[in-house]
Amino acid sequence: MYLIYLLRRDLRVSDNPIFHHLQQHSKFSHILPLYVLPPNQVEVSGFLQDPGSDSPYPQARSRLGNFWRCGPHRAKFLAESIWDMKQSLKERGSDLIIRVGRMDEVVRQILRHQEYKGKVVAVWITKDWASEEVDEERMIKRVIQQEGDGKIEWKVWDGEEMLLHDNDFATSDPAQVPDIFTSFRKSFEPLRDNIRSPYKSTSTQLLPLPSEIPAQAAPFSIPASLEEFISALRKPVEDSGFGPPILKPQGASTAHPFIGGETRAHARIVHLIVSGCISSYKDTRNGLLGEDFSTKLSAYLALGCVTARQINAYMVAFEDGKDLPDFGIRSGKGENKGTAAVRFELLWRDYMRLCMRKYGNNLFSIEGLRGQRSNRDKNDSGSSQHWSDLSSPETRTSFSRFLRGETGTGFIDASMRELALTGYTSNRTRQNCASFLAKWLGIDWRLGAEWYESMLIDHDVANNWGNWAYVAGVGNDPRGRDTDTGGRKFNPVKQAWDYDPQGEYVKAWIAEFEEVPSKRARKGERGWVDVLFQAWQVNDIFQKSTDVREGEVIDKLKKLDWVNDPLVKIKYQPKSEAKTFRKNGFGVGAKYEKKTGGRHEKSRAKAK
Ligand SMILES: Cc1cc2nc3c(=O)[nH]c(=O)nc-3n(C[C@H](O)[C@H](O)[C@H](O)COP(=O)(O)OP(=O)(O)OC[C@H]3O[C@@H](n4cnc5c(N)ncnc54)[C@H](O)[C@@H]3O)c2cc1C
Repeated sequence: MYLIYLLRRDLRVSDNPIFHHLQQHSKFSHILPLYVLPPNQVEVSGFLQDPGSDSPYPQARSRLGNFWRCGPHRAKFLAESIWDMKQSLKERGSDLIIRVGRMDEVVRQILRHQEYKGKVVAVWITKDWASEEVDEERMIKRVIQQEGDGKIEWKVWDGEEMLLHDNDFATSDPAQVPDIFTSFRKSFEPLRDNIRSPYKSTSTQLLPLPSEIPAQAAPFSIPASLEEFISALRKPVEDSGFGPPILKPQGASTAHPFIGGETRAHARIVHLIVSGCISSYKDTRNGLLGEDFSTKLSAYLALGCVTARQINAYMVAFEDGKDLPDFGIRSGKGENKGTAAVRFELLWRDYMRLCMRKYGNNLFSIEGLRGQRSNRDKNDSGSSQHWSDLSSPETRTSFSRFLRGETGTGFIDASMRELALTGYTSNRTRQNCASFLAKWLGIDWRLGAEWYESMLIDHDVANNWGNWAYVAGVGNDPRGRDTDTGGRKFNPVKQAWDYDPQGEYVKAWIAEFEEVPSKRARKGERGWVDVLFQAWQVNDIFQKSTDVREGEVIDKLKKLDWVNDPLVKIKYQPKSEAKTFRKNGFGVGAKYEKKTGGRHEKSRAKAK
């Protein structure tokens, strides 16, 4: 009596509904835990036995931008997470069998294998609501029906990866999910009291593997070591196809040096608690530099290495003063600002998932969730006319400069370079970059979402596409849909002054700024920080500089195309220094010029 457990984004042993169930009641003699790398989402040509041969699958590239669906950063994190699961299962007397191919094809091959014929009684998987995964489930079900003669149980389990439990919602009808987050949030207050505990693990042993494991089908083979596994996943996708590699500044260090897998996820949570980072999270979460300004749990959550409820359980133990051996400290003072804010963000994650359930494939359409609203409200005409696709050479150039971090707006460029170099960038800069592409450059926001999907370590379908749609004004942001003002729009220069007032973040990620002096201008004068945020001002600000070293830096900057010819010129100065600058022709607010096909259009933007 064999069970095949198909793992996807549930790469954990603990708080795993299927393993938990198997501990309690198991009618099976053997279990085959299987992870199948899907060739439409992950490039699998690195697994070809003969590297010179052709893969039977088309390359795993995105629909609009032709980017690798899973770029090098996530490829590594995914490999580490799979391997960690493999190790954990081995320690429990089992293993994780890795295969390449379409999941339904792999299942068919196994069901037809001599050793498995008539012995497999169930195939289980955990639910995923993204449309490709839903299609995948349908195809596997068909294979089971065809091969199983009605004797194989097909079960899709609730993955239970959310903070709240499906059964705790007032209704299971996705259409009832409110379109405003605040309305959703209010029905679960106080949040801390509404979160269930994770499953407790009791047994350290799992059922054994079947005695024979069907081999990987040709033309692929699965490497035997983690290093080779990472290389097979990474190598084909290392070149993004967007020009020469982006220069890495010497002092730049990633905010996300973390290794994938359940083991590391738990270590990270313990670190956050023991170091006090979790308690200060509310004050630091808008940070830009360093490892600890935010939790960096997103990539672990995205692959299911840990659940939101497990994170909550750690925080509850800390708040209640429980003596978890790993903590070494106790709080006992109940919920604090930091732990409450982490819960709040995890609820956002739930909300994005529920919106994906509600709106399905609309999430990937240019009208976003709005497509449906405009059917109901004829006055709301949608906004696709605002966005250019890549058909014109001008848009292609602007878009490629955006991806490479060469727009001339420092805050955006630093973030896009950090993303390409490390696979991570903060929530604050993600919001700004999304707004810049969709609202300042007027380029189809889905191209940005596809690029993030390719580059982010923590890519998560609902969070990525939901947040992009939200910022672009076609998601569930009530302020994003104001058609008179073009909706909520981030001013990336104002944001840079607010969140990076010394320009440290911008300097950290833009190699060409490495020699820019770290000195601030005297009050009321424009200076180097202004140049970091809008480099085209260098001519203006340093016309009369007599400092030799400064002169050299200025000359170098003036030679850069993206400095001389920014994609947009945003004229903004912080309010306290506004008077002086008004004299020089720089008003407060966000008066800007956008370059379109050689012209400069003047427009006004709402500063945020
Ligand atoms: C354009 C854009 C694209 C994004 N793409 C992704 C993505 O692909 N994957 C992803 O996990 N998050 C995404 N986010 C949300 C957010 O930026 C990241 O979750 C966060 O930056 C990850 O770092 P962290 O784990 O340190 O977050 P923390 O600030 O420590 O937050 C804790 C957790 O709460 C959740 N969370 C935080 N902010 C959000 C949010 N705005 N929406 C939903 N959940 C949130 C995440 O699971 C996160 O790990 C995106 C945001 C924007 C604006």
